[in-house]
Amino acid sequence: MNGPVLSKPEPLPFTSRMLKGRAAVVTGSTSGIGLGIAGALAAQGADVMLNGFGRAEDIERVRSSLADTHGVRVSYSVADMSKPDEIDGMITQATDDFGGVDILVNNAGIQHTAPVREFPIERWNAILAINLTAVFCATRAVLPHMESRGWGRIINIASAHGLVASVHKAAYVAAKHGVLGLTKVVALETATIGVTCNAICPGWVLTPLVQKQIDDIAAREGLSADDARAKLLGEKQPSLEFATPEQIGALAAFLCSDAAAQIRGAALPVDGGWTAQ
Ligand code: NAD
Repeated sequence: MNGPVLSKPEPLPFTSRMLKGRAAVVTGSTSGIGLGIAGALAAQGADVMLNGFGRAEDIERVRSSLADTHGVRVSYSVADMSKPDEIDGMITQATDDFGGVDILVNNAGIQHTAPVREFPIERWNAILAINLTAVFCATRAVLPHMESRGWGRIINIASAHGLVASVHKAAYVAAKHGVLGLTKVVALETATIGVTCNAICPGWVLTPLVQKQIDDIAAREGLSADDARAKLLGEKQPSLEFATPEQIGALAAFLCSDAAAQIRGAALPVDGGWTAQ
């Protein structure tokens, strides 16, 4: 009798501590989504370099807590993502600390909202520098090492605003659309080796960056914090729930797995249905 031929099940590709021995740099990881990603990679056994701004004692608390909880090495770079030479310095420091960079998560980002005709050029330049040019600089700095080892993961935290637009976010939308273009180019240039480059496109995630926008809505429209939060979600995110830094971290960890080796140049929304509309 000819029944279906069942092949032997493959071992699970997404095993615990699968990133042991790998080293990751996560930009903008002192808060919000970057911190969620740093935690997810450390939980899989990766050594992690944190980066971003904040009070020295708060950053040290986060650093030592991640190291103790997950038994990995965690270091910190104060590099300013608006300064290309500091980005190179961060990658050099990570290479010195860990012997190389296997995983780069370009996450640092800022926001400013204003109509185009009132948009200050300084804010435009800062957003383009941190949200787009820094992604190019850090990618360029890690690629030679990843290419020589034949393995690497570059994960760019874009946004639903990399796929669609909203009013008053000219620089942010332009930068995030640019990140998706850059992601595709890097994916093509590394297509035949074990280096992948992909983007995650979050919708609303409740972080300090979004809290500021909620506060602005509450002040402008005389709403309570709860009503302003509901208004923000209701306008864009059909699930009416925030995505969480842990959910973005889990997807970033999956993109580092062998199961994700043929996901290349993708823009993966985690947006409660925002870009399905
Ligand atoms: P956040 O403000 O909580 O964190 C931003 C991080 O970047 C912080 O660690 C901050 O210190 C760091 N940073 C800012 N400027 C920097 C600089 N010049 N150099 C180095 N580090 C710098 O913001 P978040 O919401 O966690 O955003 C993280 C990323 O996710 C951003 O790229 C953002 O555009 C993207 N994103 C966020 C949302 C959301 O709803 N929160 C949605 C889509 C995309």
